[in-house]
Amino acid sequence: MAFVGGLTFATSVPALAVAATDTEARASVYAPVEDTISLEPQHLEVASEAKLEPHPSGSYAVEAAPPPIFSQVANVGSVSIVESDLVVWPVLSPENRSSGFGPRDAPCAGCSTNHDGVDFNPGSGTPVMSIADGVVVLATENGGGLGVNVEVQHNIGGELITSSYAHMQYGSLQVAVGQRVSAGQQIGLVGSTGQSTGPHLHLEMFGVDGVRFDGFAWLGERIG
Ligand SMILES: [Zn+2]
Repeated sequence: MAFVGGLTFATSVPALAVAATDTEARASVYAPVEDTISLEPQHLEVASEAKLEPHPSGSYAVEAAPPPIFSQVANVGSVSIVESDLVVWPVLSPENRSSGFGPRDAPCAGCSTNHDGVDFNPGSGTPVMSIADGVVVLATENGGGLGVNVEVQHNIGGELITSSYAHMQYGSLQVAVGQRVSAGQQIGLVGSTGQSTGPHLHLEMFGVDGVRFDGFAWLGERIG
């Protein structure tokens, strides 16, 4: 029925438009009877006055999105990470720290004398957050001396940067290997698992060379 109705409609339109009994001369509907087009030159002020200055390079560069870098995640494969320079502290109250980066007196038997990370003391059970967007490459409750440990890889300025969060509470992990996280997303809770003398977050940071650097200084520079 629908097809028949449509066909009727389509054929009836030209029948009405050009009736067989219409004997009046008719102007073509395609040409105006009177020429109303002004022959005066038209002025397009904006176009004629505007100067087409070349944009200085740098102020208006059409930049392609920087290519992602790829993280090799165990049992997951290659995961792309897009660049994000937004970084945040891994805990609230980052000013509360017990041990800085670098050489130190070992705080316990078996503790390192060269501290590979920074110890934050925001309080037991407080949230631990990813310092930037990234992908989780390690999430374990059996991190040896590091205890409950998560590693996240980030693309900061086109560089692959890894952040490692140690000594978190058992059962507190909020992320799994291969999962994408965003800056400030909770990954666990401050605890004292592994080689630890009290509840704190041990944060390690390193680049592709694996050499640890001072995460507190690095974050402080970028967060301001
Ligand atoms: Zn530490």
